[in-house]
Amino acid sequence: MAESQIGGGQQVLLLPEGATRLLGRDAQRTNIAVAAAVANAIKTTLGPKGMDKMLVSELGDIVITNDGATIMEEMNVEHPVAKIMVDIAKTQDKEVGDGTTSVVIMAGELLKGAGDLIEQGIHPTTIIRGYKMAAEKANEILSQKARKVDINDEATLQKIAMVSMGSKNVGDDATKSHLCKLVIKAVRQVMDKNAAGKITIDHDFIKLEKKSGKAISDTEFINGVLVDKEISHPGMPRSVSNAKIALLDVALEIEKTEVDAKIEITSPDQMQAFLQQEEQMLKDMVDKVKKSKATVIVTQKGIDDVAQHYLAKYGIIAIRRVKKSDMEKLARATGAKIITSLDDLDEKDLGFAGTVEERKIGGEQMVFIEKCKDPKSVTIFVRGGTQQVVDEAERSIVDVIGAISSVIETGMYVLGGGAIEIDLANGLREYSSDVGGREQLAIVKFADAVEVIPKTLAESAGMDAIDTLVQMRSKHKSKEGSQFGVDIFRNSIGDMLKNGVYEPLKVKQQAISSASEAAEIILRIDDMISSRSKGPAGGMGGGMPGMGGHGHEME
Ligand code: ADP
Ligand code: MG
Repeated sequence: MAESQIGGGQQVLLLPEGATRLLGRDAQRTNIAVAAAVANAIKTTLGPKGMDKMLVSELGDIVITNDGATIMEEMNVEHPVAKIMVDIAKTQDKEVGDGTTSVVIMAGELLKGAGDLIEQGIHPTTIIRGYKMAAEKANEILSQKARKVDINDEATLQKIAMVSMGSKNVGDDATKSHLCKLVIKAVRQVMDKNAAGKITIDHDFIKLEKKSGKAISDTEFINGVLVDKEISHPGMPRSVSNAKIALLDVALEIEKTEVDAKIEITSPDQMQAFLQQEEQMLKDMVDKVKKSKATVIVTQKGIDDVAQHYLAKYGIIAIRRVKKSDMEKLARATGAKIITSLDDLDEKDLGFAGTVEERKIGGEQMVFIEKCKDPKSVTIFVRGGTQQVVDEAERSIVDVIGAISSVIETGMYVLGGGAIEIDLANGLREYSSDVGGREQLAIVKFADAVEVIPKTLAESAGMDAIDTLVQMRSKHKSKEGSQFGVDIFRNSIGDMLKNGVYEPLKVKQQAISSASEAAEIILRIDDMISSRSKGPAGGMGGGMPGMGGHGHEME
C-alpha cells in the first residue's frame, strides 16, 4: 500500500513501513460511515423525549447527561472524522450554547446523503457546491420565517428558555421554570449595550458556582459574586453590610529578598529590632487599607499572619488567594477598581456590596458578596442532591444561558418541534428545481437531511416518522399550517406557536452553517494517510494526529 507508481512503472516509496492509506471512494466511504456512526450514537438523546447517556471514563468517573456537546466530548473518539464531528458540537456550544445534538445529527445526515450521491457517480465537488447553495438558501428562509421578540417580553423568553431546558433531566416543570427565570434574570443583568444599541452578552460574567446538597429547586440567583473561599482570619467579622470593597492585586506580605542576602544578627536586641521593623511594615500596609475606608479586602495574592491580625483588629474582612477570573467578576459586580499598589488605594476605587457574608455550605465556608448595585456580573448558585445531578443541572443552565443570550442579541426566534426544519426542507426542494443540474440533487439531499430533526423527534415520541413527515410537509404548504411541528406530548402534530415551542434563530443559523461546513470538510478528503505505526505524529508531516486509532475501519 505504501507505494506509488510513477510514469514508466518505476516504484517510489512514499510511506514508512506499516503506514496505512485510503484513497478516493474508499476514504470517502469510510469517513461517511464514521460520521454516520457518531451521529447515530447521540440521535436518541434529541428532544424532550430523548434518552440520557451514561458515560464511564477510563478512571471510572460517571457522567449521566443528555447534552450533545458533553457526550461528544466524553466519548473520547479516535478517528479523525469523529474528531471533526466532536469539533462541530464544540463550536455550536461555544457560539450559541444550544443545538449541539441537532448539529451533529444534521452533519451525519448530510454526509449520508452525499454518500448516496457519490455512489450514483456524482463528484464530491458538485455535492459540496450544491450543499453550499442549499445552506445559503436555508439561511434566507430562516430569516424570512423568524419572529421578533422584545427583550422585555418575559413570557416569550421564558418559553424559549423552557424549550432549551425541556430535554434535560433536571426535575419537574416547576423546577425547570425556576431555573429558567434565574437565567433570564442573570442574562439581562449582565448584558452590555453599546452606543448604537447593540446588545452583547459575555457568558463569563454569569458565574456558575455549584455544590451538591439540598435540591435543584434551591438553586439561587446571587446579585453579585459567590467566592469559594473563606474569610482568612477567625478574628474578622463574619459579615458586614454596606461593604466598601477593595480589590487588590498585591500581597500584604514582606517580599522575600530576590538576592540571597545574608542578614547578620549578633545580639537579641538586633533580632528584636529586625522583627519590629517587619511588623511595622506590615502594619503600615494595613493602615493604608484602613485609610481608604475599605471594610472588605479581596486579594489575588497572600496576606501575612501579622497583617491579618491587624486587619482583624480594625474589623476589616479579608479574603486572600482569589482567582484572577473571580477578581474580574468582582470588579464588574461591585464597581471596584483592581489596585496593583497599596499606595494607589483610594476611597474612590472601592466597590460596593449590600452584604458580604461567610456561610457554611455543605461543610465548607463560602463568601457571598451580594446585593450589589446593578452588578454587571452575577452568580447562579447551583444545588442538587448529588454531584451528578448538580453537574447536569449546570450543563442545562449553560444551554439556557446560550439560548437566551442568542435570542436577546438577535431579537429573533423560530418555531421548534421540527416546524422550522419542515419549512426549510419545503423551501429547499422548491429552490432545487429552479437550480436544476446535478447540484439540484445535492440540494434535495440537503432538504432530506434537515428533516432528520422532525423525524427523530417523531421517533422519540413513538410516532410513525414517515407519516408524520408527510403530514407536516403538506400542512406547511399553507400559511397557517407552517406553525405545525411534532407535538411530542400528544403524539401527534400540533401548533408550535400555540404550544410555545420557540427556539432562538441564531441556534438554527449556526447549526445549518456548522453542519454544512463539517460535511464539506469531510467530503473534500479523498486521501487518508496514517503514519500511526511510527509514533503518534510521525511520518508524513504528522498533520493528522489520532488517525488510524480504528485501524480496522480503514482497511
Ligand atoms: P440540541 O442539543 O440539539 O439542543 P435537544 O435535546 O435540546 O437537542 O433537543 C432540541 C430539539 O427538541 C429541538 O428541535 C426542539 O425544537 C425540540 N423540542 C424541544 N422541546 C419541544 C417540545 N416541547 N415539543 C416539541 N419539540 C421540542
Ligand atoms: Mg437543546
